[in-house]
Amino acid sequence: MIQRIDLRGADRTTVDYRAAVPRADFDVEAAVPAVHAICEEVRTRGLAAIREYGERFDGVRVDDIRVAPEALQRALVELDPAIRAGLDESIRRLRATCANELEQDAVTDLGPGARVTHRKVPVGRVGLYVPGGLAPLVSSVLMNVVPAQTAGVESIALASPPQREFGGSVHPTILAACALLGVDEVYAVGGAQAIAMFAYGVGPCAKVDLVTGPGNIYTVTAKRLLKGQIGIDSEAGPTEIAILADDTADAAYVAADLISQAEHDPLAASVLVTPSERLASEVEAELDKQVSVTKHVERIRTSLSGPQSGIVLVDDLEQGLQVVDAYAAEHLEIHTEDAAAWAARVNNAGAIFVGPYAPVSLGDYCAGSNHVLPTGGCACHSSGLSVRAFTKSVHVVEYDRGALEAVAGHVVTLAEAEDLPGHGAAVSVRFGE
Ligand code: NAD
Repeated sequence: MIQRIDLRGADRTTVDYRAAVPRADFDVEAAVPAVHAICEEVRTRGLAAIREYGERFDGVRVDDIRVAPEALQRALVELDPAIRAGLDESIRRLRATCANELEQDAVTDLGPGARVTHRKVPVGRVGLYVPGGLAPLVSSVLMNVVPAQTAGVESIALASPPQREFGGSVHPTILAACALLGVDEVYAVGGAQAIAMFAYGVGPCAKVDLVTGPGNIYTVTAKRLLKGQIGIDSEAGPTEIAILADDTADAAYVAADLISQAEHDPLAASVLVTPSERLASEVEAELDKQVSVTKHVERIRTSLSGPQSGIVLVDDLEQGLQVVDAYAAEHLEIHTEDAAAWAARVNNAGAIFVGPYAPVSLGDYCAGSNHVLPTGGCACHSSGLSVRAFTKSVHVVEYDRGALEAVAGHVVTLAEAEDLPGHGAAVSVRFGE
C-alpha cells in the first residue's frame, strides 16, 4: 500500500534529501489562473460573485452570507455536551499556552534622554478561515480565535464554507464553537472567495488587515495571491506527518498516527523515516490491518498509496535526523530511545511531538499547541499560528535635545555619505546651524 524509498548509503552532499522524500503534489502555481479569476470577480462583482461561487463549488445558494446571531446561540444551546466538554478543555489549554506567549514591550535606553521602545500591538481586524469542504474543522475555530483574542485583536470575522445539508449555513458545531468564544461575525463563504471577501471587504464584511487559517489548494493560493493586500500567516495546506522512529517504536502506534493524518485529505502526506527494516515491515502489516477498519478508508488508501507518502529507510538515526530536518514536515513525531534529545536537534518542523504518548491527534485537538502549521516545506521559514501572528510591533523613538545633539554629527555625516543633505539639515536646524 505504501511505497518504500531507500536512502541507505546516500549522502546529503550529493543527494537532496528534501527532494528525495515524497511530498504532496500541491501545485499552487497551477491553481493561480483559476484563483486569480475568482479573486477578481469578487473584487469587481462582490456579493453576486460570492453567491455564484457558493452555488458552483459548495452546491448551495446563500442569499444572506452573514450568519444570524440567533443561529449562533441556537447552535451553542443544541451542542452535544460531550463535544462542549472537549471544546472547553481544548480552549482552557490553548489559553494557557497563548497567555504565556504574550511578549512584553522591549525598552532600550541608549544614553541619557535617548530611548527606543519596541511596542507590541495587536492587529486591528482579522479574518479567520475555518475549512469545511472535507470535514467541519471545529478545532480550527479554537486554533484561530484563541491566539487572536489573547493578542487583543478587537475585530474578528470568521468564514467557513456553506453546507448544503444545513441550508447553506456554516456547520452547526463550528457555529457553536464561535458562540462559545464570543465570535459573532461569521460568514458562510468558503475557499478563495472567502479570502477575497476578507481582502477587499464585500457586502456586510468590512476589509480585514490579516487572514489566518488552513485550507485546500484554492484557499492557500488565494492567501498567496492576496498577500500584500492583506497580511497572512503561513501557507497551511494539506496536512503532513513525518515520523522518525527506531527499533524501540511501537508499530501499531506509528501506523495509527500515519493513518490519522492521511484521514484529512487524499493529498495528505504520511512519511516514516527509520533505520529499522523490522519496524518498516511491522508498520506495513499494521497499516494493512488498521486501514481496513477505518471510516474514511478510500481517502486514507489514496493518501497512503499516493506519491506523497512512503517509508524511507536510512542508515541510522543520525541520517534520519538530517532527512526529517531537510523535509521540514508540518508535524514531526519522534519515536526513538531518548526522543527528547533527538527532538532538540530538529530545527525545521511546524510542530514536534516527542515520544509515544504525544501523537499528532493530541495536537490537533487538545495539547494546548496550535494545529495551524506550515506545510510544503514552509516550516523552513515559517511558524505555526500563535499569538505572535496576531501581533505587530511599532518602534517608538524618544530623544531629548541633549540626546539628539550627542549623535547629531553622525547623522549629518551619514546623510552626506548618502548624498541626502536635507536629512542632515533636518538635524542641524535644531541647533541653529
Ligand atoms: P477548504 O474549506 O479550504 O475548501 C473548501 C472550499 O474550496 C469550498 O468552499 C470551495 O469554495 C472551494 N473549492 C472546491 N472546489 C473548487 C474548485 N474546483 N475551484 C475553486 N474552488 C473550489 O478546505 P477543505 O477542502 O475542507 O480541506 C481542508 C484542508 O486543510 C485539508 O487539506 C487539510 O489537510 C488542511 N488542513 C491543514 C492544516 C494545517 O495547519 N496545515 C490544519 C487543518 C486542516
